[in-house]
Amino acid sequence: MSFSQLGLTATLIKALSAQGYKEAYPIQLQAIPAILKGKDVLGIAQTGSGKTASFVLPILQQFQSKPTTKNRFIKALILVPTRELAVQVGDVFKQFAEAMPRKVKAMSVFGGASINTQMMNLQGVEILVATPGRLLDLVDANAMNLSEIDILVLDEADKMLNMGFKDEMASVFKLLPEKRQNLLFSATLGKEINNITEILLHNPVKIQVEEEQQNLDLITQQCYHVTEDRKGPLLRYLIKEQDMKQVLVFASSIHRADGVVEKLKKHGIEAAAMHSKKSQGARTDALANFKSGKLKVLVATDLASRGIDIQFLPHVINYELPRSPKDYIHRIGRTGRASSAGTAISLVSEEEEHHFSVIEKKMGKKVAVTETNELDLKGY
Ligand code: AMP
Repeated sequence: MSFSQLGLTATLIKALSAQGYKEAYPIQLQAIPAILKGKDVLGIAQTGSGKTASFVLPILQQFQSKPTTKNRFIKALILVPTRELAVQVGDVFKQFAEAMPRKVKAMSVFGGASINTQMMNLQGVEILVATPGRLLDLVDANAMNLSEIDILVLDEADKMLNMGFKDEMASVFKLLPEKRQNLLFSATLGKEINNITEILLHNPVKIQVEEEQQNLDLITQQCYHVTEDRKGPLLRYLIKEQDMKQVLVFASSIHRADGVVEKLKKHGIEAAAMHSKKSQGARTDALANFKSGKLKVLVATDLASRGIDIQFLPHVINYELPRSPKDYIHRIGRTGRASSAGTAISLVSEEEEHHFSVIEKKMGKKVAVTETNELDLKGY
């Protein structure tokens, strides 16, 4: 269905079409009209479903009729679990805010970057995207005020809880006015999410999208049976022989990610690791270089990869399988997004074969297997 039936203004619809958004995604179809009506929303959706635009667009539209706010009084607050997601969500706000007649300043704040610079830049900000810890630091420093928030968004709420932000989130809620609109997005439902939902949301419109099915059809999945000690050479063989230009590799731990990067570099393949032990600067640089095509290989852990939004990522490789089928689907969902086809390759050792069959069962899909015993990997 097109965006014009959802109650968005002509200006936004023009901006959407200029950005290549032709049809609304399922989450957008349901969330946009509900948010425009001022309803609370519970959205069960993952990265890749189009959830960001589903709240960014109606929020920007709501701002068109809001008077300009007092300086340093934030009107819309978006809480996110990671720095990367903060930047991405902030970028989507900026991308569409530019097109709007009433100018709205959006900004992202997160830890690991200079708080002083952030404090100075908060001047005139009405929409703030923030990780919980840094947000509280800024409140403590009297850099802004949250008592006039109209709309609160919790993005990837399950991840925020998994990352241990429960107390920080509770402290933030205490700073907000009672009357406001609340939107909560989460990839999964569970006891903790239900608790927050009950405290936070009033008669929410519940939206659940089956992102898995939607994306899986676009992804060519392959499985390579390989012994543990030949995974490194096989990875380099695939990158070289298939002439991969941009590949996201998943490793099971920080240590493994660093090891894979080191070996790739030794063999002349430019690579960088993306995990929580890397400094903010290193992560931002790695992501920017990877996005621009300067860096061929990014090796990430599940946690760090969450929320990385790269359009048209052609290759994802599981160096090791993730623990849960959900994480597998989430990983491979990085390719085959926004209607472009991609390939997801899993390097599966004998010990992992049973686990892979569990993943296949959960997906309802069998993945083609290539045996590599006979493959000559000398020199890779
Ligand atoms: P998200 O789930 O918000 O991370 O969005 C996933 C990707 O889909 C992003 O790269 C968006 O730019 C893109 N996207 C979101 N909605 C649409 C749409 N309606 N049409 C085309 N691309 C979209």
